This record gives sequence, C-alpha cells and structure tokens, in this order.
Amino acid sequence: MGVWDIKDGALIANKKQDNPLARKYWEVVTKTLPNDLLNTYVSSFRLFTDGIDEDLGGINPMNDLNSKWQVDLDITDMDISSNEPIHILNYTHTLIHEFGHLLTLNASQVEPTEDEYQDDTRGYLTAEGYAKKNSYLGQYVNQFWSPRLLYQWDRIDKKWNQRRKLRLLYRFYLKHQHAFVTDYAAESPEEDIAEAWTFFVLSDKPKSKSIKEKKVLFFYQFPELVERRTHIRSRLQHIPLDYLNNFKSSREY
Ligand SMILES: [Zn+2]
Repeated sequence: MGVWDIKDGALIANKKQDNPLARKYWEVVTKTLPNDLLNTYVSSFRLFTDGIDEDLGGINPMNDLNSKWQVDLDITDMDISSNEPIHILNYTHTLIHEFGHLLTLNASQVEPTEDEYQDDTRGYLTAEGYAKKNSYLGQYVNQFWSPRLLYQWDRIDKKWNQRRKLRLLYRFYLKHQHAFVTDYAAESPEEDIAEAWTFFVLSDKPKSKSIKEKKVLFFYQFPELVERRTHIRSRLQHIPLDYLNNFKSSREY
C-alpha cells in the first residue's frame, strides 16, 4: 500500500502514494496513543494488507540502536470507517499492543548487542538487544519468567519448523494458561509484556491475584504508566467490560 516518512510525529506526503488514506490512519494512531514516544521514535509508517486476520500490524526497529521505528498496520483488519464497537476495540487492542512494544523495546529500555546467544549475567536477550536490568521488560522477565519457564520456551522457540513451533507454543500456552492473558502472550516474553500492557490499559484493575492478573497489576507500580493508561483511556469512545475475562481470540501482531 505504501510507506511514509514520519518527522516529529507528522506524516510526510509521498508523491506516488495515497496520502489522504495514510493521513486518516496516522491520525487514528496519534489520536489514540501518547504522542511523546511516537514523536521521539517513530520515523516510518507502512500500510499493508494480507486480508482479514493473520498479521494485524507490527512495529519494527529501523536501526541497530533502536532509536528509529516503523509502525505497520493492516488496513483490512483496521477498519477505521466502522462504528461497530467490536471493530474499534479490535484495532484499538492492536494499536495499544504495538505501543507496548515501543514502550518496552526502545533505546532507553534495551541495550544493543552483537551477542547471538544470551549471556545470562546480562539478563534477557531480545531481538533488539539485552533488556536493561531496570527496564520494564527486564523487571517483568525477572518476576514472571523463571529460568525453568524460559528454558522450556526457548527450546520451542528454536524449532525451525514453523507449524511445529506454533503447535508446541500453543501446547506451552495450554500448560500455563493461568499465567498468560492470551494465547498470543505465550509466544515470547516480548509479546507477553505487550499483551499484559494492553490489558492494563483496557481492563479495570484486577481484584484477584492469579499470575495473569499479577501481570496486569505489574504496571501499576509505575506512576508514568498509570498516567499513560489514563491518557489512552480518555481518548477511547468505548471501554470494554471486564476485558481480561471476556477476551477470546487467537491473533498475531
Ligand atoms: Zn506484538
């Protein structure tokens, strides 16, 4: 569909592309998500489609320093012309999830490295580098991913056969269902924190203390994240009811 440059949070028109379409989508992004992180880190915006479901969107670093990022959105999944609360909720979930990646993997959170294999003394190794010890992801993995759980997951993650890997990941999720907010959260610690962050924003504060609820409660210890939650919620037209318990889906971001 096209790729556009973003400068200080503004979309730069691109001669050969459908600029009005891109502006409409970018406006939904900037109206929903806190602008400070977008302005600092997002340098590129891509619209694509692979039909309904499959890939809904993504966010990817554009350099090794994790200082510039591209936001990708599937325009078929993200039907911004719809007034249906369920459609709006689905793409809002995607936007908040992608923002969760930017929040937890940006240059201030993750230390770039040449290491291909994790040096345990340096913490958790993401595709973008080591999660700093005091980063959100560093603390999250420390609290929720025991060495044993990480080992079990890593053995699955290393499988080269994608279909087999997905089957094993789903089995891994079923075995630890009480610990993951969605099946997709079991894909990796990075997806786990992005999904838990999404439920932190969209759900009421959990009252009981199962592991998945503790994962949502994790974010309440950071006043700046509570502020971001309030900000995003103030921009939403519909806040779902008991989202954590009502959510049922198997999707990829
Ligand atoms: Zn994701």
